[in-house]
Amino acid sequence: MADQNFNPFKMAQQQFDNVAKQLQLDQATCDFLRVPDREYHFSIPIRMDDGTYQVFRGFRCQHNDARGPAKGGIRFHPNETIDTVRALSMWMTWKTACVDIPLGGGKGGVVCDPRILSLREQELICRGYIRQIWKVIGPIQDVPAPDVMTNSQMMIWMLDEYEKITGMKYPGVITGKPVGAGGSLGRTEATGFGAIFTLREALKEKGIDITKTTASVQGFGNVAQYAIKLYTQLGGKVIAVSCWDNNVKKAITFRKAAGTNYDELIGITDKFGTIDQAKAKDLGFEILDGNDWIKQEVDILMPAALENQINADTVNMISPSVKIINECANGPTTPEADEVIKSKGIFVIPDFLCNAGGVTCSYFEQVQNNMNYYWPKDEVLEKLDQKMTAAYHGVSNMAKEKNAYMRDAAYLIAIKRVADAVKLRGIV
Ligand code: GLU
Repeated sequence: MADQNFNPFKMAQQQFDNVAKQLQLDQATCDFLRVPDREYHFSIPIRMDDGTYQVFRGFRCQHNDARGPAKGGIRFHPNETIDTVRALSMWMTWKTACVDIPLGGGKGGVVCDPRILSLREQELICRGYIRQIWKVIGPIQDVPAPDVMTNSQMMIWMLDEYEKITGMKYPGVITGKPVGAGGSLGRTEATGFGAIFTLREALKEKGIDITKTTASVQGFGNVAQYAIKLYTQLGGKVIAVSCWDNNVKKAITFRKAAGTNYDELIGITDKFGTIDQAKAKDLGFEILDGNDWIKQEVDILMPAALENQINADTVNMISPSVKIINECANGPTTPEADEVIKSKGIFVIPDFLCNAGGVTCSYFEQVQNNMNYYWPKDEVLEKLDQKMTAAYHGVSNMAKEKNAYMRDAAYLIAIKRVADAVKLRGIV
């Protein structure tokens, strides 16, 4: 999002075009699937705490709903663009198809920085977003959820606004709600845990003992936190974590050769996800440059921040020791970097497979909302593990069968499922 020359939508289209060719998809299906079905652009005027008015830009893209209601998060970010939202909505379509849940793909965004907004201002943006979009979302139309810099509190404000407008109770219109207010146990952990379920399966397949592995993680938001938690619980060693430091406005890598864990890191992290440099030094961390996470001599790299992080400029910084890239973020690797990764023989667990745990648990949340009956946490996580494990092996088997790169194998499965639904409906 930060790099002006990087266009995530072009990247998503390039990935799609390559696989559509391999699948010999007809021109009309290609034309239909390489752009969102619908998109909405709108303004959200807010009266700020100082009495002035500010107008925020909002977007919602519904890429495809042939397999079920559109589904995907809303992110708040100062560098949000319509092309980012388009790309992410497209990746959601492939994600829900890859894990085979009966949903389509959508995404939303607001150009804003919640780190400099009061809670009242954040609430007004959430409610304003819903007032602009409520007619075209709904439990059987399009279901938003949290994403980068949005959280369960924001989701319940959005749900409340939707229910106020419609005068009905619709818990399934939004997922990622707080537990006790329609949320599902396990949803907070789901994306990070899901990423480790796929990693665990990959390591098993390769005959690598997880307790003998080391990892370097980019990011310390919700996904990274729970990925680190489960990976270290299973015996893996995290030796580096990088995160955005909101005080100095740049990324910093924290390195500890002896290994770190969730509890240690969360204890020195503020509510914006910034790890405190002074406290980290006291705990024995080395403080390194933001890009240093990628240079670490580890077995596993976990990009868990934003898109465009492993690109033509950074891919050659990867250490020869790296065996697996576990893509916890959406779109972290560019097609140029993919070529280098392929040539180095590094195994990639692609984003829309690796991080599909969040949306899978969102689907479970909706199912529980519809039944008005809630499962215990163990049951949710067990179901999540089954879905992620099955999806991993589906993609891995396809990769073996077609001698394909894992990303292409995931695309082959997902695009085929969506194209089949489009054909069955007689859309094109
Ligand atoms: N924002 C998450 C993602 O990119 C979750 C989406 C959802 O739960 O709908 O997968």
